Parts: sequence; C-alpha cells; structure tokens
Amino acid sequence: MASPASTTPTAHPPRPFAVPQRGSSVAGKAYWAMAQRVALTAAAIDCGYFVLFLWLGSPPLAWVNLASIAMYLGAYQLIQRRRNTAGILLIWLEVIVHSALGSLLVGWDSGFHYYLWLFIPAIVIANSGRYAAPMVLALLAYYLGLRFACDHWGALAPLPGKGQQIVNTLHTCLVFGMFAALAAFYRRTILIAENRLLKQATLDGLTGLNNRAHFHTLAGHTLTRIQRTGEPVALVLCDIDHFKQVNDRHGHAMGDRVLVAVAGVLARKLRESDVIARWGGEEFLALMPASSLESALEVAERIRVAVEQVEISDQGTPVPLTMSFGVTRVAGSDDLQAAIVRADKALYQSKNSGRNRATAG
Ligand code: GH3
Ligand code: MG
Ligand code: MG
Repeated sequence: MASPASTTPTAHPPRPFAVPQRGSSVAGKAYWAMAQRVALTAAAIDCGYFVLFLWLGSPPLAWVNLASIAMYLGAYQLIQRRRNTAGILLIWLEVIVHSALGSLLVGWDSGFHYYLWLFIPAIVIANSGRYAAPMVLALLAYYLGLRFACDHWGALAPLPGKGQQIVNTLHTCLVFGMFAALAAFYRRTILIAENRLLKQATLDGLTGLNNRAHFHTLAGHTLTRIQRTGEPVALVLCDIDHFKQVNDRHGHAMGDRVLVAVAGVLARKLRESDVIARWGGEEFLALMPASSLESALEVAERIRVAVEQVEISDQGTPVPLTMSFGVTRVAGSDDLQAAIVRADKALYQSKNSGRNRATAG
C-alpha cells in the first residue's frame, strides 16, 4: 500500500527551518537529493569563481570562494550523514556571508545580493505562515542593511576594468537558472504528490485495481461513450470461493496474497478497455464494453480456469483456489445498478449450484 502522503497533518506545530525529514516521503527524499545536488553544483561554480577572481585581480574574493567550496562540501557530507538541518544551515550561512562579503568588497552593483532572493521561496515553502513572515522580514532587514552599508562605504576592493559588469552578468545568469531549477523542482514535487493522492482516492491499496467509487466514474464514462453506437456491454461479478477458510487456515497475510494473485489474473485476462474493480472483500467486478453475453461467459470461463491454476502454497501445502461468476448484459448507464443486482443474483446461483462456475443472469 502506498505510504501516507506527506501532507498528513502533524500534531506538532512546524518549526523554523522545517524541511522534510529524510526518508519520510518521496518528496522528502527528492528534497534532500536536490539539496545535495545544489551543494555540489555550488561548490563547482565557486571553483570557477575562484579562478575568475584571481584572473580579475581580486585575491580576497578568490579566498572567499575557497572557503565557500569547503562549506558546500561540508554541507554535502552532513546531508549524506543525515545531519540534514546542520547541512542546510551551512548552505544558508554560506550564502548569507558570501553575498555580504562580495557586495562589500566589489560593490552593490556586482549583484552578489541576488542570491539572497532565493531565500524567499525557500523560506515560504518550507515554513508555515507563523515563521515565514518574520523570517522574510528579517531577510529584508538584512538585505536593506547590506545595501545601506554598501552605499555608505562603497566598494572596499573594487575590480579593475569591466570586472564588476562581468561578475554582475554571471550572477544574473546563475540566479535566473537557479530560480528556474527551483520552480521545476517544486512543480515536480506537486505533481508527484497529486499523483499519489489521486491513486489513493481511486485505487484499492492492496490489489491496485479501481476502487468501488472509481469504478462508477469509469463505468459511467464508458457507458455514455458507447450509448450512441449501441454496442453490447457485459458485466461480470466474481467472488473467491470459501475465502474465509483461506484466512482461517493460512492466516490473513496469505488471504491478502491470494487477493493480489486473483487481481493479477483478472488484469491479465481482461482487456485494457474493460473496467475492473475490487468490489468488496473478495469480490471483483468487470464492465466489458463490446462484449456479448456469450463472449463475456467465455472470458469468465477462461478466468475461472486461470484462477484454478494459480499456484500458491503455504510452507509446501498448496492453497486450492476457485472462483464463482455472475454474468449479465448492460443496456445503458441507467441500467448499471440493475445490472449489478442481476449479476449478483447470477453469482448467488453459481454459489448455490456448487461454486467454481459462471452463470448468466
Ligand atoms: P463463499 O464461497 O460463499 O464466497 O464464502 P467465503 O468464505 O468466500 O465468503 P465469506 O463472505 O464468508 O468470507 C469472506 C472473507 O473475506 C471474510 C473476510 O474476513 C475476508 N476478507 C475481506 N477483505 C479481506 C482482505 O482485504 N484481506 C483478507 N485477507 N481477507 C479479507
Ligand atoms: Mg467468497
Ligand atoms: Mg463475498
């Protein structure tokens, strides 16, 4: 069964720097993998900047970049060892200090402060409104303070020639790329979460077949689509025989294994266009468009034989399996409920006449 969605409400209020716990969800794992990729990419970029600042004639900034590389590699290692909060704080510290040193040494127009903007989506997405607002305000205060200091002191170690423009252009390109990557990451995360919720709402957690509610939706679509063409539609309701005995003799886990195996048989023997659902405990329902009653009976017979041939054993003891079927025609979407009742009666007849058979109703 799918793991619980990461959106499950928690009993504890969210903390500042709240980020997904590693391994807690698919989105959480992706977050930390992304944080590690960010740390490595930033270290690689700073290697480039180290060379650039030596070439531009600013050794102080080159040394700042060397320290940054060490911090990013340290953050990568910390996340690798699951010390996630420490790793993320080290990345934050690096960006805050580096943007300040760069702006003060080379001047505000160098664009080192652009990197502080990346904190805004990071803070808002990772924290609840309670912490996000004060943290964004603190960031704003820091940002304006840095700007004031730069205006006041000017560049402490200006770059010669067009150095500042070159650095500004590089920062602009990098920050554009980072925002695009951040947006793409969160888009992917949302799509994964949406997909997971959709599966939980529409599929049976054990067998992966449609659940009852989704069967009605899909069957409604199918019947509306084919109403105009007048093609025959059949409905097959089937139920595992003496399933309670499987549970009683071999345990609930074995019962679950049997349900999964039978669902596999149904999925293999029915067509892609058929709508299959787990209807109840050990009952399954299939709506078969473009199927006459006769051909549906033939399919039911093939499934019956296939279920009989399923080989499941409990510590060497075979677990015999059979299934009974009720098959009927469906005249249109108005008839679906009545058709289910007819199929149920036909199934009841199959059970009463000895099980392991299909009856038309
Ligand atoms: P019949 O041949 O008349 O259909 O008899 P049966 O034993 O198959 O039917 P009955 O309705 O007496 O028992 C169905 C059992 O299915 C009872 C219930 O505990 C079990 N069951 C329902 N859902 C699940 C499930 O998800 N897993 C397991 N292992 N058992 C389930
Ligand atoms: Mg049964
Ligand atoms: Mg039953």
